[in-house]
Amino acid sequence: MSSSWKIETQAIQGGYDPKPGDPRVVTICQSTTFKYDSADYVAKLFDLEVPGFFYTRLGNPTTDAFEQRLAMMEGGVGALGTSAGQAATTLAIFNICKAGEHFVTASTLYGGTYNLFASTLPKMGIEVTFVDPEADAAEILAAFRPNTRALFAETIGNPGLNVLDFAKFSAIAQEKQVPLIIDSTFATPYLCRPFEHGANIVVHSATKYIDGLATSVGGVIVDGGNFNWDNGRYPELTEPDPSYHGLQYAKTFGPLAYIVKARVQLMRDLGAVPSPFNSFLFAQGLQTLPLRMQRHSDNALALATYLERHPAVSWVNYPGLPSHASYELARKYLPRGASGVLTFGIKGGAAAGKKFMEACNLIALVVHVGDARSCVLHPASTTHRQLSEEQQIASGVTPDLIRLSVGIEHIDDITADVEQALAASQR
Ligand code: PLP
Repeated sequence: MSSSWKIETQAIQGGYDPKPGDPRVVTICQSTTFKYDSADYVAKLFDLEVPGFFYTRLGNPTTDAFEQRLAMMEGGVGALGTSAGQAATTLAIFNICKAGEHFVTASTLYGGTYNLFASTLPKMGIEVTFVDPEADAAEILAAFRPNTRALFAETIGNPGLNVLDFAKFSAIAQEKQVPLIIDSTFATPYLCRPFEHGANIVVHSATKYIDGLATSVGGVIVDGGNFNWDNGRYPELTEPDPSYHGLQYAKTFGPLAYIVKARVQLMRDLGAVPSPFNSFLFAQGLQTLPLRMQRHSDNALALATYLERHPAVSWVNYPGLPSHASYELARKYLPRGASGVLTFGIKGGAAAGKKFMEACNLIALVVHVGDARSCVLHPASTTHRQLSEEQQIASGVTPDLIRLSVGIEHIDDITADVEQALAASQR
């Protein structure tokens, strides 16, 4: 296995290196635990002195193959699979932020992440400041406090579809000596590798493009191994952990400190672990990710171009379109394509939008994105409905916004379905 492989090769061959007689395919290791003969050896496993598996909450061969494959594709040093994307985000923050501390985040977020940050984490004593990612650096810097522990943003905001200015965000994170944590769910490592642009930690909802066929909920945290935890500000990584008989993560594990701590301390205690079966499906999904992401992106660009010229459409939001405010950022950070999600407004507003959704045949009304099958959604009445209108607008959702997750079917069939549904929406 080689980290110099192109991403298409890493996706197919990475993370699993079968020896003679081993199964060719990553196997589903559906076992809670692992057998050993020597108590001393098991003690060494517990003490993290030797690598190996002892209990599936802490590690599992199938999940390990998925983690290693994705870490390789992202160009990170290690990864931790989780039971959902929400768990990945929660653990990524908890790993370095406790009650009485604070972090700064872009406001253009997936609705579930917005709720987690605006409602649940503050109840646990973690304070959060939301910033407009388009604001200038001075304004974002002003949100930092002495107890600020991280800067968080999405590569492509869901569902605003603004592309992150990595140069600005990573410079701010570096100046403040905090890690830049990126949710790269919509981009996937095929379209953007955030560590190459100054990010330190990446999280994904594996539920979306990584799975790719809408079979399983899951998440993953990837560690870039490129943050200096020893800067005097992260004692949880540099000082002895009393809950792990004095383990010092940075000293013992160097660049792997963050991801090892997330596993042996937080996964141990919180248990948001993926099932081996789901990890198998994610490892399978990664194999076709480059092919799918190219097709999703090409189809979405073609459909966005078509919609932009359609008389029943008032606006189209897709970062691959030259008319989009993020177009230059998309060209810089997403050179292969701008992923499969686009939003648009129908003339006739919310009522026409409802008619459009109900008239779609091939394109299904489902609460999902990133599926190989095209799907459609009205976020204000579904995924973002727990937010106030003010919060919805802050996260990029207007009442007339329709979101399309463009699949990998033939573009002519997708366009034909949109064409007839648009006609129906205007009757
Ligand atoms: N991040 C983004 C960008 C998402 O779109 C989602 C879900 O839609 C999540 C995180 C949460 O992931 P999950 O549903 O796997 O918990």
